[in-house]
Amino acid sequence: MARKVKGIGLLSGGLDSLLAVKVLQDQQIDVVALTFVTPFFGPAKGLAAGEMAGVETRAIDISEVHLEMLKNPRYGYGSRLNPCIDCHGLMLREAAKNMSAEGADFLFTGEVLGQRPMSQRRDSLRSVEKLSGLDGRILRPLSAKLLSPTRVEEEGLVDRSMLLDIQGRSRKRQRELALKYGLKEYPQPGGGCLLTLDSFTNRLRKLLDICPGATVADVELIKWGRAFMLPGKTICMVGRKESENSKLEALAGARDIVLRACDHPGPTCVILAPNGPFDLETATSLAASYGDAPQGAQVTIEWREGGVEGGGAAGKLMVVSKPKEFFKSLLI
Ligand code: SF4
Repeated sequence: MARKVKGIGLLSGGLDSLLAVKVLQDQQIDVVALTFVTPFFGPAKGLAAGEMAGVETRAIDISEVHLEMLKNPRYGYGSRLNPCIDCHGLMLREAAKNMSAEGADFLFTGEVLGQRPMSQRRDSLRSVEKLSGLDGRILRPLSAKLLSPTRVEEEGLVDRSMLLDIQGRSRKRQRELALKYGLKEYPQPGGGCLLTLDSFTNRLRKLLDICPGATVADVELIKWGRAFMLPGKTICMVGRKESENSKLEALAGARDIVLRACDHPGPTCVILAPNGPFDLETATSLAASYGDAPQGAQVTIEWREGGVEGGGAAGKLMVVSKPKEFFKSLLI
């Protein structure tokens, strides 16, 4: 009996990748899907889309290699800190590692020619292919008829006549296809990547600027609470609510300093991995001033190296609570 053709799809969670699965299933191609985990986006939408499409979907954590790519992307950034071409290339390269184990013939994505200004131009799709190292084995079922035939089409594994010719930013064809396939509650396009948000990328830029060797753990920490740049160039995170305090405490590692008020309810603060002498004075002031202690009150702040239970240096300092405006210029 002839072996079924098999493709591995990259599921971002958007409608386009869902439709790409459907278009290939129309020609009885076996499909499995992958979705990725980094500090900047998670697998939830991709896994939900996989369930909607009825395909087995696995999440792969590429946090470390993605962060290293982000520090120096070959094709640069989009309008924020989003290295979309390199990001797509990396995801395809990681997906390619699964091809022989899966017995897959090709990879595919839901990319649509001309839909995104940076990453979905004709030349960008070529660049992504080059970065992935998989020349001719990456299929874009939604725009395939507008692109040069891939090897899998030339070899007759995929019927090119059943692929599509969608291009541009209009979503009309995708909406019609969603109706055809009975997809009623499909995900909306865009969103979900922190690298496209000013609020996050401002702090990430600062972190990478002062600490080029920043780790995934450092990036996880700057997601929670207010961020301040202390004199001496270290970042201090200050929790705004209990859930953020808990996150900061859980994430603080051996190189971080955790601060909390002893005698008043207040935020958990974390000084990120200081490389040298750190500005304990400003950090303790922040811990005192963003808590419930009245202005001008004396507050005892406990600090500890290496997280809440850490075994590093530790101590207590008495500081006076100041008005929050005092720290405005340090906010990132
Ligand atoms: S928006 Fe984010 S997840 Fe999407 S390709 Fe760009 S960097 Fe990658």
